[in-house]
This record gives sequence, C-alpha cells and structure tokens, in this order.
Amino acid sequence: MHHRLHRSLLGATLGLALPFTVASAEPPIFDAHLHYRPAVAEIFGISDVGRTLASNDVRSAIVMSTEGGLIRRLQAGSDTRIVPFLEVSHRLGKKMDWMHVEDLGARIADMLDESDVAWRGLGEFHILADDRFGPGFEQLLDLAVARDLTIMIHGDPAVIDHAYATHPEVRILWAHAGSYAYPPLVQDYLERHPRMNMDLSMRNPRINPGGQIDDDWFELFLTHPDRFMIGVDTFTTTRWEQYTHLKDETRAWLDQLPDNVARAIAFENGERLFPAQ
Ligand SMILES: [Zn+2]
Repeated sequence: MHHRLHRSLLGATLGLALPFTVASAEPPIFDAHLHYRPAVAEIFGISDVGRTLASNDVRSAIVMSTEGGLIRRLQAGSDTRIVPFLEVSHRLGKKMDWMHVEDLGARIADMLDESDVAWRGLGEFHILADDRFGPGFEQLLDLAVARDLTIMIHGDPAVIDHAYATHPEVRILWAHAGSYAYPPLVQDYLERHPRMNMDLSMRNPRINPGGQIDDDWFELFLTHPDRFMIGVDTFTTTRWEQYTHLKDETRAWLDQLPDNVARAIAFENGERLFPAQ
C-alpha cells in the first residue's frame, strides 16, 4: 500500500509541475535497439519489417545492420524513420574479439567512406571489462568522437568508465542498461557520465516483475526521465516475429509511469538525441 500511495503522490507532483500534461493515448515509439541482418532479411523481408513497425506505431528506430543496402531498402520500404548504425563486429565476424583488430579504426573509416548511407552510429559492440585496453577500442572511441557518431556498447561497467576517462566527449548508448542493470548502479553511471544514455531492451522482466513495476526502477525513471529509451532488440528472426508481444511487455510498465515520463522514454528522448537530419 505504501508504495502505491508514494507513486500516486509522485505522479501528482509531476502533474502539478507540468500543468499542460494531459491524459492521452499511448505515446508513439522510438525503438533504440533493432538489428536487421541479411540472413534475417531473407526470412523476414522489408515489407514484413515495414508492416510490423507501422502496426506498432514505431515512428523512428535505430537499426543496426552490416549492410548499407539493407538500410536503403528499409528506408524506401517503411514509413518509420530509420536511424542507421553500422554493425562492424558482425561484418568482421568478430563478435567478442574485435577490439584486438590492429587496424580497426582505419577499417571502419573505410566502411563509412565507401557507404552512401548517412550512418549515425556504430554498433552494437560486445566487450568485457578485461578487453577495454584493446587497441581497437581506443581507435573506435577516437573515430566516434572525430565523426560525431554514437557507439552502442553491450558491456561491463569498467568499459564505460574507461571510455569516459580517455574520451569525455564520446556519446555512448549503453545497451540493456548495462551488464548489471541494478537501479543504484545505473543511477551512479548516469550521473557520472552525462553523455551516456541507456536503452532498456531485454529488461522487461527486471523492470516489471509479475506485471507490477519495480519501485526502484520507477523512482529512477522519475529521477532521470530524459536518459532512457526502449527497444525490442531484434537479434533473431523470432524476435522480429514476436515484435508486437515484446513491445506490449514494454508498454505494460510504461503505462504505470506518469504520462510525461512514459512519453519521454517511449519516444521523445530518441527524437531529441537523434533528430531528423
Ligand atoms: Zn542487440
């Protein structure tokens, strides 16, 4: 009972602070974590993706792909605004040891220069704490800063600390709210690293156990409503096929947040961080 009262008081406080917030229909979606690879595209085609995103009210999406051609076909075949990220490690066939490629920076620079897609970011990069001193990671950070690209990192907290110790201006999206998605840890990282934001893909069970939003996550979202985005993480064909269900699981906890916070996390933060060009 206590936390329900607490929540409604917080909601009322926000409502008073923002008198123009009105109860409204569910917000549209900016999905910050989609993958679309050639092997998946052979089964789940462009029209399937376009229809899936449209029927789920996904207005914009970060789509990570190895192939510029797929991005261009998706941009042509979908009403959703596509924010393209170049998936380098899969292209090199090195999911976990890309950071030890000696000329990684030059190779990514060549991929960007040879492409006719306006890439907005690089990733997703999987990296464990012990690999954070790899030469390829250093080059990746240099390149991201030089070309004003965001890096999607799926990795340990020490990786994020190392990145900001050496490259304070780099923009990172920390996938899945990090390897250890505990609200006190998440809050600490958000407050120490203002240019790092988080996507919450794969975290529905943790945020909304048993269908009731966790108190610590709830308070974290109200403390930092401008730092989170949602995502479905379509790393397999199956997850594309289950998109509506997985999105509904995310809506189930968004619906328990004050409207303005839900709208920020579902849509507005992505639009602000990755505006149309
Ligand atoms: Zn992913």
